[in-house]
Amino acid sequence: MNRFLVEANEMKETIISNRRYIHQNAEVGFKLPKTIAYVSQKLKEIGYEPKALGGGLTCTVGTGSPVLLLRADMDALPQLEMSGESFASETGACHSCGHDGHTAMMLAAAEILKKHEEELEGTVKFMFQAAEETLKGSQAMIDEGILTEPDVDAAMAFHLNFGPCGDFDLHPGCLTYAEHKMMPSADEFQITVKGKSCHSSTAFLGVSAVSAAAHIIIALQELIQAEFPSDETVLLAIGQMISGSTSNIIPDEAIIKGNFRAYTNESRDKLRERLTEISTLVAQTFRATAEVEILAGVAPNINHPAFAKEMAGYCEDVMNKVIVIPPVKGSEDFANLCKHVPTFFANVCAGSPEDGYEYSMHHPKARIDERALPYGAAALCNCAYNWLKNH
Ligand SMILES: [Zn+2]
Ligand SMILES: [Zn+2]
Repeated sequence: MNRFLVEANEMKETIISNRRYIHQNAEVGFKLPKTIAYVSQKLKEIGYEPKALGGGLTCTVGTGSPVLLLRADMDALPQLEMSGESFASETGACHSCGHDGHTAMMLAAAEILKKHEEELEGTVKFMFQAAEETLKGSQAMIDEGILTEPDVDAAMAFHLNFGPCGDFDLHPGCLTYAEHKMMPSADEFQITVKGKSCHSSTAFLGVSAVSAAAHIIIALQELIQAEFPSDETVLLAIGQMISGSTSNIIPDEAIIKGNFRAYTNESRDKLRERLTEISTLVAQTFRATAEVEILAGVAPNINHPAFAKEMAGYCEDVMNKVIVIPPVKGSEDFANLCKHVPTFFANVCAGSPEDGYEYSMHHPKARIDERALPYGAAALCNCAYNWLKNH
């Protein structure tokens, strides 16, 4: 058995108790006072000097180059937990995305790597981030310099995967990853359409914002059909339109809200550009105006093929099974790191429906199979140790 897996298994009780504390004290976004105090305390107990950065925490082990960054997110969702677990959160926030497990796995990896510090041929930098769910936490740490001092050469992160989310094996000890395109970008937008209000019996005196908005929505559907190759997955969805107050007044404003997703930065840029052009020009056609705002966004999460293949190889020494999967549909703010350094993002399987884990990420009843946690911790260690040794 891989030596890091042996050590992680010996720490199983600690990993689980850390995970359960973070779970029970779930917090949201950038407001993680209890979580950060706990993680910081644990890091100090194992010999680190964690530093606050961009709403999260960072520390390093080893010296010199190369530098590998390991990232874990610590935030929960604003949701009432219904898992039925004895350690369920009663804070009004719920770790239904498994970030409690990510933090516990990385704390264990930090402890194991500290014990092996003399053997490390380079530096491991830990990035414990806030606010993944709002897609703002990783950028905040990048803006405050997580990639410098020391300069980071490559980065990796794991996400727990559980419940019915694909045709692959979700038993603890399995890891899944995509060779290149892993997850799409996600951008949220708002289009504000302005017209001129009047009585519906004299509609010719006004400009209907709701009618212009309806034409914009139809035209945007055409964009996906007509301007992207059929083998390239791009998505654009309208989730909300608000306009008008009653049946016989032509409304002077309509608000359209939606989001778009793409697996490449080129397609993401094109979607953003054409969304604006189509909305403003269609509005003009109907004598209205449209203003497009991008409210929040994250880049596509792309695995660097050679780096991902190498890291997946190190994971194979620890895991029972490593499976290559097609790109998945969700988004991740780890993607902001892909623009700067080669990255590897993979899923640690943590609960199969056959074993009773029937709810997947973001469900208030979601539970995870904690047997997965030592595997994830050991795989982080094995990747770090071997990558530093071979570069
Ligand atoms: Zn999530
Ligand atoms: Zn997540």
